[in-house]
Amino acid sequence: MNLYGDIGNIRVLRQRLLWRGIDAEVTGVSLGAAELDGFDLIFFGGGQDRDQTRIHRDFADHKRNSLQRAVADGAAVLAVCGGYQLLGHSYVDANGVEMEGLGLLDLRSSAGRDRWIGNVVIEADASLGLTPRTLVGFENHGGRTVLGPGLRPLGRVLAGGGNNGGDHGEGVLSGTMIGTYLHGSVLPKNPALADWLLRTALAHRDGEDVALAPLDDTVEMAAHHVAAELARAERGRTAVAKHR
Ligand code: GLN
Repeated sequence: MNLYGDIGNIRVLRQRLLWRGIDAEVTGVSLGAAELDGFDLIFFGGGQDRDQTRIHRDFADHKRNSLQRAVADGAAVLAVCGGYQLLGHSYVDANGVEMEGLGLLDLRSSAGRDRWIGNVVIEADASLGLTPRTLVGFENHGGRTVLGPGLRPLGRVLAGGGNNGGDHGEGVLSGTMIGTYLHGSVLPKNPALADWLLRTALAHRDGEDVALAPLDDTVEMAAHHVAAELARAERGRTAVAKHR
């Protein structure tokens, strides 16, 4: 799954390691059997409803158990939009067809009347310890996600749609797992979040927390602030597209 440039997240994670002299091995995972519990960081990109229809059965049959083991062992997970939705119990698409999710998180998603498309800025959950606390990205989804009572959102929406427009939450934060509707891709303009994922992955590999050498994120943060201003300028936008 890779929609709206989500593969860029992999490039950012790998490059931010290389800049620190740390090599990374990237393995593409496709349909069929896959043992995910050997990885330190697992990324799921987004997908159209039809993409999710094609892979949700495979996710459940061939990825669920080893992903569950990987998460229990502390591997980092970033899941964007369609991948995020399928971490939950189910996703009901724009045609009313319910797809089984992985059931790893107590959340449910279903398509709303229209799509939310535009720039988003959120205030990340304080427990992440990010500086700045804002996260920016681009959303394009029809799905609305409701978190179960024991889950907290990745952050609070400052401008944009987010999970469902009602509870002002965006995404989910659960241990070492992050789900989000933020495309863009999300990590290039949010270096602090990228480094949180890398520290989590390295702690999984080495069995201890490691400090990462600081990088010059001047360019990344300039793009971050421009995106945040774009999102604020679009504040109050109405849904911009009907389901086809
Ligand atoms: N198909 C899902 C939705 O429309 C996810 C879309 C995406 O991954 N951008 O909500």
